[in-house]
Amino acid sequence: MKKALFSSILWPIVSALVIMGLLHLGGDFADIHSYVQPRLGAGLLIFFIVSFGLNFVMDRNYLKILLPIAVILPLLWMGTFTWAYGFASLPEKKHLGDYYVLGGLLFALPYVYTSITGRIRKLKGLWTFIAGLFAFFMLLLPFIYIGYYILFGGEMDMFAMLAVRSTHLKEIKDFLRTMGSPAHIIMAVVAFLFVVSLATAFARRLMKKARSFEGSYLRGDGKGFALGLAVISILFVGGFYRQITHVFPASMIRALNSKGSEFSLLQKLSDNLDKNVKTMAFVLPDPNSGIDEGTHIVIIGESASRDHMKAFTPDYPEETTPWLSEMAKTKDFALGYKAYSNFPNTLFSLSYAMTSASQYGDSSFEDVVSMVDVAKAAGYYTTWISFHNRSSMSSAGVTMIAERCDDSYWEKNYDGYTLDILKRMPKHKKQVIFINIDGSHYTYIARVPVNLRDKLGVSAGDKYHDYDLTIAYDDLVMKEIFEYAKENLNMKSMIYFSDHGENMEHYHTTSPFFYDMVHIPFFVYLSPDYQAAHPELMPVLKAHENQVFTNDLAFDTVTGIWRARTNFYHSKYDWSSKDYFLTMDNATTFERKKKIADDPVWKK
Ligand SMILES: [Zn+2]
Repeated sequence: MKKALFSSILWPIVSALVIMGLLHLGGDFADIHSYVQPRLGAGLLIFFIVSFGLNFVMDRNYLKILLPIAVILPLLWMGTFTWAYGFASLPEKKHLGDYYVLGGLLFALPYVYTSITGRIRKLKGLWTFIAGLFAFFMLLLPFIYIGYYILFGGEMDMFAMLAVRSTHLKEIKDFLRTMGSPAHIIMAVVAFLFVVSLATAFARRLMKKARSFEGSYLRGDGKGFALGLAVISILFVGGFYRQITHVFPASMIRALNSKGSEFSLLQKLSDNLDKNVKTMAFVLPDPNSGIDEGTHIVIIGESASRDHMKAFTPDYPEETTPWLSEMAKTKDFALGYKAYSNFPNTLFSLSYAMTSASQYGDSSFEDVVSMVDVAKAAGYYTTWISFHNRSSMSSAGVTMIAERCDDSYWEKNYDGYTLDILKRMPKHKKQVIFINIDGSHYTYIARVPVNLRDKLGVSAGDKYHDYDLTIAYDDLVMKEIFEYAKENLNMKSMIYFSDHGENMEHYHTTSPFFYDMVHIPFFVYLSPDYQAAHPELMPVLKAHENQVFTNDLAFDTVTGIWRARTNFYHSKYDWSSKDYFLTMDNATTFERKKKIADDPVWKK
């Protein structure tokens, strides 16, 4: 009894520590707090339940004898996804715990299955076949996942599925080209046969060990143990069945097919952008007849909250924005002190911001074009620099738009690496550069290079030290971009807005919703010569500094500032236009469900 209790407690703890150590090596789990996630907790709980269940019901020797086989599938699954989330930067880390839950249950299945079927003398071949079939699928799925990654250099996920299902021709061509070559077909057949033989070997060994085991599989002969076996069988098989529908690939397939899902929004957007761009026309003056040479920069932030930026919130105790605070005093910058995100998540917020869709006008994504299409039509060379994962659900909308650019850079690096890219990318006389920084995305500390962490002026005692560090770091990054572009790229404008803000307890989510999740920074810089060429712009921008802005109007504002106005542009949505219509009375967020006027900060 004592032995069983000891083993029950020891195994889950050892396994959890090993996993935590591995994740720590991956870099995104910087400290003990990063492990505090509900699904990781669920994983640990399942480890304990499985450990107690097996140790108290099964015979000790049987547990040992089957161990080398029972660990194979859980190690494969947990290993694959520990790598995917911890080392290959798969985002949405909250799902990682699901794979540990699955791993725990997967470990228990060989034990309960053999305890039930191992002593049945009839249909021996059938029991082995069922075990083999099961092993085949459970071996195949991680192999598909890894194989896809090797072939395409990215995770197989929603965006990949979207690309395959929609008319994203380039992706489909790539797919066929890679898959269609004889070498790949032979490789696929070999891999398939390999998995079949592994599954066969797995099932044969499993059943052989079980059948040749002498004595009882259970710890004792009493009725209690038989009942215990029944309970853990139902528990673990049922648990497994539930869990397998919540992980790859079932989770993905289900999300694809649900109506009104984020996926269906993307599907629509993807189809419509191509269609609508054909109906796009410039309103006078035609930018091609006299648009300025030079560079426009649009920086898209991530989870940045203006509440933590001293330039926007002067009484904030930490000096998080030394550069921007200085710039705000000049005549070349206008800051949106009442800027809001249109939605508390990346996908929706940026789908609105980067297209002509808005809460106040066309919110259907039916008749919209993107900022990128406008820039291209106006004769700008367009480049997209991103520090986000190219293929993830949260960035799928923006990826789709990013890939409409003439050129794109997908970097797995710190935001400061932007400077290196700017220096090495080809120069163009008329260009728009979009920079989608990784900003302040959770896990905060992982966004800031180690050697800068104690040099950014954020005090060690700051309650929000890690988050504020990301803000201070990006202030430095923006300073570097600004100074380089001013000196070397003939920069005309630099516009920055974040996708959404961040609540220090709940991050950013639709439920629960807090207004600080939509408090975003927003600023516009215009070079002195651009101001001279368009003297009406800066006075209006300055006059609007304290007028509310929601970032779904970024399309009209940015294309308005570029002087690249199309039939999709509305001057009343343009923060730089004297026709700008948004006020505290009509401004909303969360797809018009929340009024900006209801933000508690205005009640004080
Ligand atoms: Zn975001």
